[in-house]
Amino acid sequence: MNEEIQKFIDLLLRSRHAVVLSGAGISAPSGIPDFRSPGGIWDGIDPYSIFSSWSFQRNPEVFYREGLKLLAKFLHAKPNVAHRLLARLEEMEILKAAITQNIDGLHQRAGSKNVIELHGNLREGYCIRCNKWYSIEEILKKMEKEIPPLCDRCKGTIKPNLILFGDNLPQREYGLATLHASQCDLMLVMGSSLVVGPVDGLPAIALRNKAKLIILNLGATRYDSQAELILHKELDEVCREILRKLEEKEFLT
Ligand code: NAD
Repeated sequence: MNEEIQKFIDLLLRSRHAVVLSGAGISAPSGIPDFRSPGGIWDGIDPYSIFSSWSFQRNPEVFYREGLKLLAKFLHAKPNVAHRLLARLEEMEILKAAITQNIDGLHQRAGSKNVIELHGNLREGYCIRCNKWYSIEEILKKMEKEIPPLCDRCKGTIKPNLILFGDNLPQREYGLATLHASQCDLMLVMGSSLVVGPVDGLPAIALRNKAKLIILNLGATRYDSQAELILHKELDEVCREILRKLEEKEFLT
């Protein structure tokens, strides 16, 4: 493991434009299960009946009564050492952006500034009729009175700012993510199975532009054979060691 950690640090220190692409696995050590692993959020449920744009349109009540309950853990979770490492790497001007599929806001809470949220977030929501925005606190308060929560202004349904199955990705964020993927010289994939499109195409863009790939993920991904470094390990253990070495400047010796 020591050699792998050293290689990880060397690749980071040699890069001019490193970016991370994170997924649900990065928040697993914070107590948020991923979706697809056994025991994950989708174990035993049909996600399309709760988390799709068509099920939300047809029956938003199901999303609020069942879906939001499954996502409640996200609101109280705290960033872990992997989020903190990435914030530190941004502060050191090594990491230029954190592109994330996560909706939990933990990158920002750990101190990362340049976070590109491709699947939205749980901090806010908006009226699907008049586009008035609400904080999650306002939405939860409204839910005490009515489900689904309705807009003060037009009585339209309020939708959390999440990308559900069938929704398009936010254009600006996806454009920025694609730009970083095409400009980076190092892409670090952390905690993602890389099976959700179109995000699963970002490492391919990076590789086409000669960037190196580091994959830190328990499970295998379809990019493993093209990575410069693969660690199928618990990411918090790896990140703790890298952070320690960076803080102690051990990499200089
Ligand atoms: P995924 O569930 O498909 O894959 C997660 C990957 O993380 C798996 O390959 C697993 O092996 C790995 N993993 C789990 N725990 C790990 C650990 N401790 N150390 C190292 N690796 C670990 O997740 P995905 O690729 O992000 O795509 C699925 C979707 O899940 C995204 O759309 C995202 O919005 C959503 N999601 C988000 C959250 C969150 O915001 N925290 C949580 C669950 C799902």
